[in-house]
Amino acid sequence: RAKELGGDNYKFYTRAMREQLGERVQIESALRRALERHEFVLYYQPQVDIGTGRIVGMEALIRWQHPEMGMVAPARFIPLAEETGMILQMGAWVLRSACQQLRTWQCEGRRNLRVAVNVSARQMAEQGFVGSVADTLGEAGIEPCCLELELTESLVMNDVEHAVTVMHELKRLGVKLAIDDFGTGYSSLAHLKRFAIDVLKIDQAFVRDLTVDPDDAAIVTTIIALAANLNLEVISEGVETLDQLSFLREHGCHQMQGYYFSRPVPAVAFGAVLAENEAQLAAGGTVPLGVA
Ligand code: C2E
Ligand code: MG
Ligand code: MG
Ligand code: MG
Repeated sequence: RAKELGGDNYKFYTRAMREQLGERVQIESALRRALERHEFVLYYQPQVDIGTGRIVGMEALIRWQHPEMGMVAPARFIPLAEETGMILQMGAWVLRSACQQLRTWQCEGRRNLRVAVNVSARQMAEQGFVGSVADTLGEAGIEPCCLELELTESLVMNDVEHAVTVMHELKRLGVKLAIDDFGTGYSSLAHLKRFAIDVLKIDQAFVRDLTVDPDDAAIVTTIIALAANLNLEVISEGVETLDQLSFLREHGCHQMQGYYFSRPVPAVAFGAVLAENEAQLAAGGTVPLGVA
């Protein structure tokens, strides 16, 4: 197509293409450098069982501690990491760090904790992904059932047949699988039936206006019912207020994650969040109040 536009345009087009390529190489090397210089850190956000008031797990969320830009949110670099393929090394690092951190907390006596890790499409598609998950678990010394992998609908729909195969292999390994941002993607109920998943994570977009928007309320209660009927666990993300919490509890969703409980925090601070939760439970509390 560029050639049809004539000589000058052709040159312009190829230069633009070259620049784009250069930019990609730059981004890729910036991400690689960041990995080598240990500029990535994991933050952890608690997942709470509102029935018992106990923190049952946490989601690991990556941050880039950039020397000049400061703390960079994943939305700003995950898509680039996916595009350049750096997500493979980054994802492997996330998985290893999260498993090692969980092991540390387990050794400190925090049993029955699980860690949720986000997985991207490129990782799922990679040959040997399941084997590398098994190796990482073995090296960290944690039980497969303590690891939950969060997959998105779009990731799975990318290549349904392959995803279904990998999900069943992961399931056989014993790890838990969750569908993240559930309700925002394109998977059909027919697909859902074939996925070897354990958990539906209700997207925060539906939770936000839950108590004022009847449509969101209907969607959320429908997802909760769907999970119950399919024998899946259900967890809500983005819970910020007591009203949202009450609605969700009344409608049968007992696992929650959101700023109401805690923002994602570094590992050391998360240790304090866990200690606080233990203290609240010991004092007879059931609903952990905001600690953020
Ligand atoms: P996600 O997996 O759906 O993670 C939930 C996001 O919602 C997180 O944003 C979290 O900080 C935010 N959040 C939690 N509670 C609340 C709340 O009450 N209110 C609001 N408004 N937001 C809340 P974050 O950490 O910026 O991550 C954004 C996305 O980046 C994640 O969405 C996930 O898709 C991706 N991501 C993060 N870490 C990783 C990673 O290690 N690997 C991969 N592949 N993706 C990651
Ligand atoms: Mg997630
Ligand atoms: Mg999510
Ligand atoms: Mg999200």
